[in-house]
Amino acid sequence: MSEKVKYFPGKEIRPEALDDGELLVTHFNADLKYSWASGVAVGRFLTELKNGRLIARKCNKCERILIPPRMFCEDCFRDTDEWVYVKDTGTINTYSVAHVGTDAHRLTEPLFVAVVNIDGASELMGFLHLLGEVAEKDIKIGMKVQAVWKPANERVGSILDIKYFRPI
Ligand SMILES: [Zn+2]
Repeated sequence: MSEKVKYFPGKEIRPEALDDGELLVTHFNADLKYSWASGVAVGRFLTELKNGRLIARKCNKCERILIPPRMFCEDCFRDTDEWVYVKDTGTINTYSVAHVGTDAHRLTEPLFVAVVNIDGASELMGFLHLLGEVAEKDIKIGMKVQAVWKPANERVGSILDIKYFRPI
């Protein structure tokens, strides 16, 4: 309620109202199907993750190496030219300490989330991932890190084929 709203004409729903038959309840299992294409660049990126490698795209005009890879250079306004493998090491560009999970529950152990600039790619090219094997007090911007990969037989072609990045 507020100064202007003094009365709601509705009726509060009590949990018992469901059992008492006061409310009409219906159940419906939706048969939801969807498909989503990752596209040429991210498709190759994901395939290479399954192989335990990071791949980027190079634009031969501006000579930038883009990761995650893109088929189009937004600076030159033209198609990118070639695939380039880059290292699985990098530098922490920025990071955050998360005490709340993606479903808004409080985490008992915080997650460390960082943007990692990938070695071999152009400046400021990288992606968001988790940090591991590091204490919160030891995380520094500019820290060198390396990907910790899942075992080959557990990789599925996902960014989570990298478990996290750890300091080196
Ligand atoms: Zn370019």
